[in-house]
Amino acid sequence: MPTIKAAVCREFGAPLVIEDIQIAAPGFGEVEVTLDAVAICHSDISYAEGAWGGDLPAVYGHEAAGTVTAIGTGAGNFNVGDPVVVTLIRACGSCPSCAGGEPTICETPYDGLRGPIKTADGGPLMQAMACGAFAEKVVVNHRQIVRIPDDMGRDVACLLSCGVITGVGAAVNAAKLRAGQDVVVIGAGGVGLNAIQGARIAGARRIVAVDMTQDKLDIAREFGATDGVLATHKAPWKAAFRALGGRGADAVLVTVGAIPAYDSAPRYLGRGGKAVMIGMPHSGAMAEYEPVTMSFLGQGFIGSKMGDVVIQRDIPWMIDLYQQGRLKLDELISGRWRFDQINEAIADTKTGSAKRNVILFDR
Ligand SMILES: [Zn+2]
Ligand SMILES: [Zn+2]
Repeated sequence: MPTIKAAVCREFGAPLVIEDIQIAAPGFGEVEVTLDAVAICHSDISYAEGAWGGDLPAVYGHEAAGTVTAIGTGAGNFNVGDPVVVTLIRACGSCPSCAGGEPTICETPYDGLRGPIKTADGGPLMQAMACGAFAEKVVVNHRQIVRIPDDMGRDVACLLSCGVITGVGAAVNAAKLRAGQDVVVIGAGGVGLNAIQGARIAGARRIVAVDMTQDKLDIAREFGATDGVLATHKAPWKAAFRALGGRGADAVLVTVGAIPAYDSAPRYLGRGGKAVMIGMPHSGAMAEYEPVTMSFLGQGFIGSKMGDVVIQRDIPWMIDLYQQGRLKLDELISGRWRFDQINEAIADTKTGSAKRNVILFDR
């Protein structure tokens, strides 16, 4: 089997180790993509810290862009040389969820331990999130990839794989915002800024960003927030109500995995409003809400995975918005790093000030 370099997690909470791994040729329905760029997502960090369990050793990484370099049989209409983005949305296409138009919650399990990668000595190696993109190449199902324009920078394209579709999709597909509605976005990070962009694109009236620092609120305004509220204030929802002219929001998008964000989310809602659960706390963490208020006011929570996207529909739409100047991507990148700097890039992401750090492969 061919050998490539990958950043392997051998112990939760320890730095990733760049080592040689084996990767199989693409099988039925699969493609091999040689990567140009992969972004670091908070989900990668949570996995590497052991927040959600999973098998080790493992290769994380799931926001990638590159070039198709080999194609298995029955792998769609792709050609060697196609530039593509690679997502973690491995949808079977025929289960009730997929057939019902909800591929992000595909019901067909995928066992990453029986995937295309192995350690250098042929031992088991987890292809985490059906991707394993902290590596020079991935072998994935053809339904996980979408062709991108030849001239699109791979550093910006890779952001479409997760943070952008999750945020924009949460506003458009999950919250189903319509023009004139009011939105509160809790968290102005990699996903939150895209939820703000999504709300703007959907025609929201007021978009209130809530975060812990003034810096983040200032960045949120650049992405379309009309108002900012510091979460560090006592009862910050009161400031949000003031910004919305004395009423609560039609939708609250919770884009961070912090429990206080979930505990406070219903407080920002107006009558009939819905809170969308996007950020992922650690397994076992619990939140609280007051059911009587929510039932009396017709409010609720909605879970949204990966922005409820259909990548073959939504990624080309978002690329077109980007080309028109209506979706910001370049501005989402806070740093570009070499592959051998991956642990530094992860540490920088953990500080919370970074938007998206992108690893660029040298090839
Ligand atoms: Zn992600
Ligand atoms: Zn399915």
